[in-house]
Amino acid sequence: MKHYDWIVVGGGLAGSALSYELAKVGSSVLLLEQSATPQGATRYSYGGIAYWAGDTPMMRQLCQESRALHRNLSAELAADTEFREINLLLTIDPDRNPEQVAAAYAEFMAPPALLSVEAACALEPLLNANAIAAVLLFSHGHVSPEAMVKAYNQAFLNLGGDRQVTRVNSLSPAGVTTSSETYTSANIAICAGAMSRSFLQQAGLSTRLYYTHAEMIETPPLDLRLQAIVMPAEQQRFEMEERAAEVDALWDKPNFEVVPAILDVGVVQFQDGSLRIGQITRALTDLHPQVDAPESEIAMRMGIEKILPALKDVPGKWRSCLVAFSGDRLPLVGAMPQAPSIHLFSGFSNPFAILPPLARRFAQQAAGHPDEILRQMSPGRFEAEFKSDNST
Ligand SMILES: Cc1cc2nc3c(=O)[nH]c(=O)nc-3n(C[C@H](O)[C@H](O)[C@H](O)COP(=O)(O)OP(=O)(O)OC[C@H]3O[C@@H](n4cnc5c(N)ncnc54)[C@H](O)[C@@H]3O)c2cc1C
Repeated sequence: MKHYDWIVVGGGLAGSALSYELAKVGSSVLLLEQSATPQGATRYSYGGIAYWAGDTPMMRQLCQESRALHRNLSAELAADTEFREINLLLTIDPDRNPEQVAAAYAEFMAPPALLSVEAACALEPLLNANAIAAVLLFSHGHVSPEAMVKAYNQAFLNLGGDRQVTRVNSLSPAGVTTSSETYTSANIAICAGAMSRSFLQQAGLSTRLYYTHAEMIETPPLDLRLQAIVMPAEQQRFEMEERAAEVDALWDKPNFEVVPAILDVGVVQFQDGSLRIGQITRALTDLHPQVDAPESEIAMRMGIEKILPALKDVPGKWRSCLVAFSGDRLPLVGAMPQAPSIHLFSGFSNPFAILPPLARRFAQQAAGHPDEILRQMSPGRFEAEFKSDNST
Protein backbone atom coordinates (compact mmCIF):
# COMPACT_ATOMS: atom_id res chain seq x y z
CA MET A 1 0.00 0.00 0.00
CA LYS A 2 1.27 3.47 -0.89
CA HIS A 3 2.11 5.71 2.08
CA TYR A 4 1.56 9.44 1.53
CA ASP A 5 3.09 12.57 3.03
CA TRP A 6 -0.42 14.04 3.16
CA ILE A 7 -3.98 12.81 2.93
CA VAL A 8 -6.46 15.62 2.29
CA VAL A 9 -10.09 14.84 3.18
CA GLY A 10 -12.65 16.88 1.23
CA GLY A 11 -12.36 18.37 -2.25
CA GLY A 12 -14.23 21.68 -2.02
CA LEU A 13 -12.29 24.93 -2.32
CA ALA A 14 -10.24 24.19 0.84
CA GLY A 15 -9.14 20.65 -0.06
CA SER A 16 -8.59 21.44 -3.73
CA ALA A 17 -6.39 24.47 -3.06
CA LEU A 18 -4.49 22.75 -0.26
CA SER A 19 -3.82 19.49 -2.13
CA TYR A 20 -2.50 21.45 -5.13
CA GLU A 21 -0.20 23.64 -3.01
CA LEU A 22 1.15 20.63 -1.07
CA ALA A 23 1.86 18.75 -4.30
CA LYS A 24 3.55 21.88 -5.68
CA VAL A 25 6.12 21.89 -2.86
CA GLY A 26 6.93 18.25 -3.64
CA SER A 27 4.78 16.31 -1.14
CA SER A 28 3.06 13.07 -2.14
CA VAL A 29 -0.64 13.80 -1.66
CA LEU A 30 -3.88 11.79 -1.76
CA LEU A 31 -7.08 13.84 -2.08
CA LEU A 32 -10.25 12.04 -1.00
CA GLU A 33 -13.62 13.56 -1.97
CA GLN A 34 -16.85 11.69 -1.43
CA SER A 35 -18.65 12.95 -4.51
CA ALA A 36 -17.73 13.05 -8.21
CA THR A 37 -19.57 16.40 -8.33
CA PRO A 38 -19.17 17.86 -4.81
CA GLN A 39 -22.33 19.34 -3.30
CA GLY A 40 -20.77 21.28 -0.42
CA ALA A 41 -20.59 25.02 0.25
CA THR A 42 -18.22 25.64 -2.66
CA ARG A 43 -20.70 24.23 -5.15
CA TYR A 44 -23.40 26.74 -4.13
CA SER A 45 -21.15 29.68 -3.35
CA TYR A 46 -21.46 33.12 -4.98
CA GLY A 47 -17.68 33.03 -5.62
CA GLY A 48 -17.17 36.66 -4.57
CA ILE A 49 -13.63 37.70 -3.60
CA ALA A 50 -13.71 40.41 -0.94
CA TYR A 51 -10.06 41.35 -1.16
CA TRP A 52 -10.97 44.86 -0.09
CA ALA A 53 -12.05 43.51 3.31
CA GLY A 54 -8.74 43.39 5.20
CA ASP A 55 -9.33 45.24 8.48
CA THR A 56 -6.17 44.25 10.41
CA PRO A 57 -2.53 44.22 9.26
CA MET A 58 -2.70 40.40 8.98
CA MET A 59 -5.91 40.41 6.91
CA ARG A 60 -4.62 43.27 4.73
CA GLN A 61 -1.51 41.25 3.98
CA LEU A 62 -3.61 38.20 3.01
CA CYS A 63 -5.97 40.31 0.91
CA GLN A 64 -3.04 41.81 -1.01
CA GLU A 65 -1.61 38.35 -1.62
CA SER A 66 -5.06 37.19 -2.69
CA ARG A 67 -5.47 39.86 -5.35
CA ALA A 68 -2.10 39.05 -6.92
CA LEU A 69 -2.72 35.30 -6.66
CA HIS A 70 -6.20 35.38 -8.27
CA ARG A 71 -5.01 37.55 -11.15
CA ASN A 72 -2.41 34.95 -12.03
CA LEU A 73 -4.19 31.74 -11.01
CA SER A 74 -5.74 30.77 -14.36
CA ALA A 75 -2.31 31.08 -16.00
CA GLU A 76 -0.60 29.15 -13.21
CA LEU A 77 -3.13 26.30 -13.23
CA ALA A 78 -3.45 26.36 -17.03
CA ALA A 79 -7.24 26.40 -16.68
CA ASP A 80 -9.74 29.26 -16.50
CA THR A 81 -11.13 30.11 -13.03
CA GLU A 82 -13.39 32.72 -14.71
CA PHE A 83 -11.75 35.42 -12.59
CA ARG A 84 -12.92 38.98 -13.23
CA GLU A 85 -13.31 42.25 -11.38
CA ILE A 86 -16.86 43.42 -11.00
CA ASN A 87 -18.82 46.09 -9.12
CA LEU A 88 -20.23 44.96 -5.79
CA LEU A 89 -23.20 47.08 -4.73
CA LEU A 90 -24.18 46.87 -1.06
CA THR A 91 -27.69 48.19 -0.63
CA ILE A 92 -28.71 50.36 2.33
CA ASP A 93 -32.34 50.14 3.48
CA PRO A 94 -34.51 53.30 3.19
CA ASP A 95 -34.87 53.64 6.97
CA ARG A 96 -31.08 53.59 7.60
CA ASN A 97 -28.58 56.44 7.73
CA PRO A 98 -26.16 55.88 4.80
CA GLU A 99 -23.22 57.69 6.44
CA GLN A 100 -23.56 55.60 9.59
CA VAL A 101 -23.73 52.37 7.58
CA ALA A 102 -20.71 53.42 5.52
CA ALA A 103 -18.75 54.16 8.71
CA ALA A 104 -18.77 50.45 9.56
CA TYR A 105 -16.56 49.88 6.48
CA ALA A 106 -14.09 52.70 7.19
CA GLU A 107 -11.41 50.35 8.59
CA PHE A 108 -11.25 48.17 5.50
CA MET A 109 -8.21 48.13 3.24
CA ALA A 110 -10.20 49.70 0.37
CA PRO A 111 -13.21 51.53 1.86
CA PRO A 112 -16.25 51.83 -0.42
CA ALA A 113 -17.66 54.83 -2.28
CA LEU A 114 -21.06 55.93 -0.98
CA LEU A 115 -23.35 56.34 -4.01
CA SER A 116 -26.67 58.12 -4.34
CA VAL A 117 -29.69 56.12 -5.49
CA GLU A 118 -29.40 57.70 -8.93
CA ALA A 119 -25.72 56.80 -9.30
CA ALA A 120 -26.41 53.26 -8.07
CA CYS A 121 -29.23 52.76 -10.60
CA ALA A 122 -26.94 53.98 -13.36
CA LEU A 123 -24.53 51.16 -12.46
CA GLU A 124 -27.27 48.55 -12.02
CA PRO A 125 -30.43 49.57 -13.92
CA LEU A 126 -32.43 46.64 -12.47
CA LEU A 127 -32.24 48.12 -8.93
CA ASN A 128 -35.49 49.43 -7.45
CA ALA A 129 -34.78 53.09 -6.63
CA ASN A 130 -37.58 53.15 -4.04
CA ALA A 131 -36.12 50.28 -2.00
CA ILE A 132 -32.77 51.83 -1.15
CA ALA A 133 -31.44 54.90 0.64
CA ALA A 134 -28.01 54.64 -0.99
CA VAL A 135 -25.46 52.04 -2.04
CA LEU A 136 -21.85 51.24 -1.14
CA LEU A 137 -19.66 50.48 -4.15
CA PHE A 138 -16.65 48.16 -4.02
CA SER A 139 -14.43 46.77 -6.72
CA HIS A 140 -14.89 43.06 -6.02
CA GLY A 141 -13.26 39.96 -7.40
CA HIS A 142 -15.31 37.09 -8.77
CA VAL A 143 -14.69 33.52 -9.95
CA SER A 144 -16.77 30.51 -10.83
CA PRO A 145 -16.32 28.31 -7.72
CA GLU A 146 -16.77 25.15 -9.77
CA ALA A 147 -14.29 26.27 -12.45
CA MET A 148 -11.77 27.19 -9.75
CA VAL A 149 -12.01 23.79 -8.04
CA LYS A 150 -11.77 22.02 -11.39
CA ALA A 151 -8.68 24.06 -12.27
CA TYR A 152 -6.97 23.28 -8.94
CA ASN A 153 -7.84 19.56 -9.29
CA GLN A 154 -6.48 19.32 -12.83
CA ALA A 155 -3.24 21.09 -11.89
CA PHE A 156 -2.94 18.78 -8.85
CA LEU A 157 -3.24 15.68 -11.05
CA ASN A 158 -0.71 17.17 -13.48
CA LEU A 159 1.74 17.43 -10.57
CA GLY A 160 1.32 13.69 -9.89
CA GLY A 161 -1.24 13.94 -7.08
CA ASP A 162 -3.71 11.08 -6.48
CA ARG A 163 -7.43 11.87 -6.27
CA GLN A 164 -10.06 9.28 -5.31
CA VAL A 165 -13.82 9.70 -5.22
CA THR A 166 -14.68 7.88 -2.03
CA ARG A 167 -16.24 8.63 1.32
CA VAL A 168 -13.96 8.69 4.35
CA ASN A 169 -15.65 6.86 7.21
CA SER A 170 -13.15 7.27 10.00
CA LEU A 171 -9.98 9.02 10.97
CA SER A 172 -7.02 8.20 13.22
CA PRO A 173 -3.63 9.92 13.72
CA ALA A 174 -2.11 7.33 11.33
CA GLY A 175 -4.59 7.57 8.46
CA VAL A 176 -8.16 7.28 7.26
CA THR A 177 -10.54 4.46 6.42
CA THR A 178 -13.06 4.36 3.58
CA SER A 179 -15.58 1.58 2.94
CA SER A 180 -12.97 -0.35 0.93
CA GLU A 181 -9.48 0.84 2.00
CA THR A 182 -7.32 2.11 4.81
CA TYR A 183 -4.85 4.79 3.73
CA THR A 184 -1.86 5.72 5.91
CA SER A 185 -0.05 9.00 5.94
CA ALA A 186 2.35 11.11 7.98
CA ASN A 187 -0.21 13.93 7.99
CA ILE A 188 -3.93 14.27 7.45
CA ALA A 189 -5.62 17.56 6.51
CA ILE A 190 -9.33 17.78 7.30
CA CYS A 191 -10.98 19.99 4.68
CA ALA A 192 -14.46 18.53 4.96
CA GLY A 193 -16.24 21.88 5.49
CA ALA A 194 -19.14 21.52 7.90
CA MET A 195 -18.48 17.78 8.26
CA SER A 196 -15.07 18.54 9.77
CA ARG A 197 -16.67 19.04 13.18
CA SER A 198 -18.09 15.50 13.33
CA PHE A 199 -14.83 14.05 11.95
CA LEU A 200 -12.90 15.62 14.78
CA GLN A 201 -15.46 14.60 17.39
CA GLN A 202 -15.38 11.03 16.15
CA ALA A 203 -11.57 11.05 16.67
CA GLY A 204 -12.07 12.49 20.19
CA LEU A 205 -10.86 16.00 19.19
CA SER A 206 -12.59 19.33 19.78
CA THR A 207 -12.28 22.88 18.59
CA ARG A 208 -14.61 25.78 17.98
CA LEU A 209 -15.86 24.86 14.51
CA TYR A 210 -19.58 25.18 13.72
CA TYR A 211 -21.81 25.26 10.63
CA THR A 212 -24.82 26.96 9.16
CA HIS A 213 -27.37 25.73 6.64
CA ALA A 214 -27.47 28.07 3.66
CA GLU A 215 -30.46 28.17 1.32
CA MET A 216 -30.58 29.89 -2.05
CA ILE A 217 -32.35 29.77 -5.44
CA GLU A 218 -30.29 28.68 -8.41
CA THR A 219 -31.44 29.56 -11.92
CA PRO A 220 -30.48 28.19 -15.32
CA PRO A 221 -28.61 30.57 -17.67
CA LEU A 222 -30.89 33.58 -18.34
CA ASP A 223 -30.96 36.27 -21.05
CA LEU A 224 -31.42 38.95 -18.40
CA ARG A 225 -28.11 40.63 -17.52
CA LEU A 226 -27.03 42.02 -14.15
CA GLN A 227 -24.20 44.55 -14.23
CA ALA A 228 -23.11 44.03 -10.61
CA ILE A 229 -23.24 41.69 -7.63
CA VAL A 230 -25.88 42.96 -5.19
CA MET A 231 -25.84 42.27 -1.44
CA PRO A 232 -27.08 44.07 1.70
CA ALA A 233 -24.67 46.51 3.36
CA GLU A 234 -25.81 45.31 6.77
CA GLN A 235 -25.42 41.55 6.35
CA GLN A 236 -26.93 39.67 9.26
CA ARG A 237 -24.99 36.45 8.69
CA PHE A 238 -21.77 37.53 10.41
CA GLU A 239 -23.56 38.74 13.53
CA MET A 240 -25.62 35.56 13.56
CA GLU A 241 -22.46 33.42 13.41
CA GLU A 242 -20.97 35.42 16.27
CA ARG A 243 -24.04 34.83 18.47
CA ALA A 244 -24.19 31.15 17.52
CA ALA A 245 -20.52 30.66 18.41
CA GLU A 246 -20.98 32.23 21.85
CA VAL A 247 -23.03 29.25 23.02
CA ASP A 248 -20.67 26.36 22.30
CA ALA A 249 -22.45 23.88 24.59
CA LEU A 250 -25.71 24.18 22.59
CA TRP A 251 -24.03 22.74 19.49
CA ASP A 252 -24.04 19.27 21.04
CA LYS A 253 -27.84 19.32 21.56
CA PRO A 254 -29.61 17.16 18.96
CA ASN A 255 -32.14 18.79 16.57
CA PHE A 256 -31.66 22.24 18.04
CA GLU A 257 -31.90 25.74 16.56
CA VAL A 258 -29.00 27.61 18.15
CA VAL A 259 -30.11 31.09 17.03
CA PRO A 260 -33.01 32.18 14.77
CA ALA A 261 -32.68 32.10 10.97
CA ILE A 262 -31.86 35.20 8.94
CA LEU A 263 -32.34 36.35 5.33
CA ASP A 264 -29.67 38.42 3.55
CA VAL A 265 -31.12 39.45 0.19
CA GLY A 266 -28.52 39.22 -2.57
CA VAL A 267 -27.79 37.95 -6.05
CA VAL A 268 -24.85 37.09 -8.25
CA GLN A 269 -24.79 36.26 -11.94
CA PHE A 270 -22.17 33.92 -13.36
CA GLN A 271 -20.60 34.26 -16.78
CA ASP A 272 -22.92 31.58 -18.22
CA GLY A 273 -25.90 33.79 -17.26
CA SER A 274 -27.11 31.66 -14.30
CA LEU A 275 -28.00 33.33 -11.02
CA ARG A 276 -27.73 32.44 -7.36
CA ILE A 277 -30.30 34.38 -5.34
CA GLY A 278 -30.29 34.19 -1.59
CA GLN A 279 -29.70 33.69 1.11
CA ILE A 280 -31.39 32.21 4.15
CA THR A 281 -28.99 31.06 6.87
CA ARG A 282 -29.98 28.73 9.70
CA ALA A 283 -27.96 27.60 12.72
CA LEU A 284 -29.38 24.12 13.22
CA THR A 285 -27.43 21.34 14.94
CA ASP A 286 -29.10 18.66 12.80
CA LEU A 287 -26.92 18.00 9.72
CA HIS A 288 -29.94 16.94 7.64
CA PRO A 289 -32.88 19.00 8.96
CA GLN A 290 -36.37 19.11 7.49
CA VAL A 291 -36.95 22.67 6.28
CA ASP A 292 -39.96 24.05 4.45
CA ALA A 293 -38.30 24.61 1.07
CA PRO A 294 -41.35 26.19 -0.67
CA GLU A 295 -41.75 28.67 2.21
CA SER A 296 -38.04 29.55 2.08
CA GLU A 297 -38.23 30.04 -1.66
CA ILE A 298 -41.19 32.41 -1.29
CA ALA A 299 -39.31 34.44 1.35
CA MET A 300 -36.22 34.75 -0.88
CA ARG A 301 -38.32 35.71 -3.93
CA MET A 302 -40.21 38.35 -1.92
CA GLY A 303 -36.88 39.70 -0.66
CA ILE A 304 -35.29 39.98 -4.09
CA GLU A 305 -38.50 41.43 -5.58
CA LYS A 306 -38.09 44.48 -3.33
CA ILE A 307 -34.52 45.20 -4.44
CA LEU A 308 -34.51 43.87 -8.01
CA PRO A 309 -38.17 43.44 -9.10
CA ALA A 310 -37.25 41.82 -12.43
CA LEU A 311 -35.88 38.78 -10.60
CA LYS A 312 -39.00 37.82 -8.65
CA ASP A 313 -40.30 35.17 -11.04
CA VAL A 314 -37.14 33.97 -12.80
CA PRO A 315 -37.08 30.18 -13.21
CA GLY A 316 -34.99 28.57 -10.51
CA LYS A 317 -34.74 25.85 -7.90
CA TRP A 318 -34.34 25.98 -4.12
CA ARG A 319 -30.99 24.60 -3.01
CA SER A 320 -29.24 24.15 0.32
CA CYS A 321 -25.85 23.25 1.69
CA LEU A 322 -23.79 23.41 4.88
CA VAL A 323 -21.13 26.08 5.52
CA ALA A 324 -18.45 25.86 8.24
CA PHE A 325 -17.42 28.82 10.41
CA SER A 326 -15.16 29.26 13.42
CA GLY A 327 -15.63 30.63 16.94
CA ASP A 328 -13.87 33.96 16.29
CA ARG A 329 -14.06 34.70 12.53
CA LEU A 330 -10.45 33.61 12.02
CA PRO A 331 -10.11 30.32 10.17
CA LEU A 332 -8.88 27.13 11.84
CA VAL A 333 -5.63 26.26 10.12
CA GLY A 334 -3.02 23.90 11.50
CA ALA A 335 -2.31 20.87 13.65
CA MET A 336 -4.76 19.75 16.32
CA PRO A 337 -2.87 20.12 19.62
CA GLN A 338 -4.18 16.75 20.89
CA ALA A 339 -3.12 14.88 17.70
CA PRO A 340 -0.40 16.78 15.79
CA SER A 341 -0.57 14.60 12.64
CA ILE A 342 -4.20 15.72 12.17
CA HIS A 343 -4.48 19.21 10.68
CA LEU A 344 -7.57 21.32 10.22
CA PHE A 345 -8.10 23.66 7.26
CA SER A 346 -11.62 24.99 7.63
CA GLY A 347 -13.94 27.63 9.11
CA PHE A 348 -13.04 30.49 6.73
CA SER A 349 -15.30 33.54 6.88
CA ASN A 350 -13.91 35.21 3.70
CA PRO A 351 -12.65 32.10 1.90
CA PHE A 352 -12.41 33.09 -1.76
CA ALA A 353 -10.14 35.95 -0.66
CA ILE A 354 -7.94 34.47 2.04
CA LEU A 355 -8.06 30.70 1.52
CA PRO A 356 -5.82 30.50 -1.59
CA PRO A 357 -2.94 32.47 0.00
CA LEU A 358 -3.36 30.51 3.24
CA ALA A 359 -3.16 27.19 1.35
CA ARG A 360 0.10 28.43 -0.19
CA ARG A 361 1.48 29.47 3.19
CA PHE A 362 0.39 26.14 4.71
CA ALA A 363 2.34 24.20 2.08
CA GLN A 364 5.39 26.42 2.56
CA GLN A 365 5.22 25.80 6.29
CA ALA A 366 4.91 22.05 5.70
CA ALA A 367 8.07 22.34 3.58
CA GLY A 368 9.94 23.75 6.56
CA HIS A 369 9.26 27.52 6.54
CA PRO A 370 7.45 28.53 9.76
CA ASP A 371 4.72 31.10 9.16
CA GLU A 372 3.69 33.77 11.69
CA ILE A 373 0.24 34.29 10.15
CA LEU A 374 -0.55 30.58 10.34
CA ARG A 375 0.54 30.52 13.98
CA GLN A 376 -2.29 32.96 14.78
CA MET A 377 -4.84 30.72 13.05
CA SER A 378 -3.87 27.53 14.85
CA PRO A 379 -6.74 25.47 16.36
CA GLY A 380 -4.51 25.48 19.47
CA ARG A 381 -5.77 29.02 20.24
CA PHE A 382 -8.93 27.44 21.70
CA GLU A 383 -7.10 24.70 23.60
CA ALA A 384 -7.18 26.46 26.99
CA GLU A 385 -10.97 26.93 26.69
CA PHE A 386 -11.56 23.24 26.02
CA LYS A 387 -9.25 22.19 28.85
CA SER A 388 -11.09 24.43 31.34
CA ASP A 389 -14.51 23.25 30.02
CA ASN A 390 -13.49 19.63 30.51
CA SER A 391 -12.18 20.23 34.00
CA THR A 392 -15.39 21.91 35.27
C1 LIG B 1 -24.89 30.69 -0.92
C2 LIG B 1 -23.45 30.88 -0.53
C3 LIG B 1 -22.78 32.01 -0.99
C4 LIG B 1 -21.42 32.18 -0.62
N1 LIG B 1 -20.77 33.24 -1.13
C5 LIG B 1 -19.45 33.41 -0.87
C6 LIG B 1 -18.73 34.46 -1.49
O1 LIG B 1 -19.25 35.22 -2.30
N2 LIG B 1 -17.42 34.59 -1.17
C7 LIG B 1 -16.78 33.77 -0.28
O2 LIG B 1 -15.59 33.95 -0.02
N3 LIG B 1 -17.45 32.73 0.30
C8 LIG B 1 -18.76 32.54 0.02
N4 LIG B 1 -19.44 31.49 0.58
C9 LIG B 1 -18.72 30.59 1.52
C10 LIG B 1 -17.82 29.62 0.78
O3 LIG B 1 -18.45 29.15 -0.36
C11 LIG B 1 -17.45 28.43 1.68
O4 LIG B 1 -17.04 28.87 2.94
C12 LIG B 1 -16.32 27.61 1.06
O5 LIG B 1 -16.67 27.25 -0.25
C13 LIG B 1 -16.06 26.40 1.92
O6 LIG B 1 -15.18 25.53 1.25
P1 LIG B 1 -14.74 24.16 1.93
O7 LIG B 1 -13.89 23.46 0.97
O8 LIG B 1 -14.21 24.46 3.29
O9 LIG B 1 -16.11 23.38 2.19
P2 LIG B 1 -17.03 22.58 1.16
O10 LIG B 1 -17.13 23.25 -0.14
O11 LIG B 1 -18.30 22.29 1.89
O12 LIG B 1 -16.21 21.24 0.91
C14 LIG B 1 -16.17 20.18 1.81
C15 LIG B 1 -16.03 18.92 0.99
O13 LIG B 1 -15.80 17.82 1.87
C16 LIG B 1 -16.43 16.71 1.31
N5 LIG B 1 -16.65 15.73 2.36
C17 LIG B 1 -17.42 15.86 3.47
N6 LIG B 1 -17.42 14.72 4.18
C18 LIG B 1 -16.64 13.85 3.50
C19 LIG B 1 -16.26 12.48 3.72
N7 LIG B 1 -16.71 11.79 4.77
N8 LIG B 1 -15.44 11.89 2.83
C20 LIG B 1 -14.97 12.57 1.74
N9 LIG B 1 -15.33 13.84 1.48
C21 LIG B 1 -16.13 14.48 2.34
C22 LIG B 1 -17.73 17.26 0.76
O14 LIG B 1 -18.30 16.40 -0.23
C23 LIG B 1 -17.31 18.60 0.21
O15 LIG B 1 -17.00 18.56 -1.17
C24 LIG B 1 -20.76 31.24 0.23
C25 LIG B 1 -21.45 30.11 0.64
C26 LIG B 1 -22.77 29.92 0.26
C27 LIG B 1 -23.46 28.66 0.69
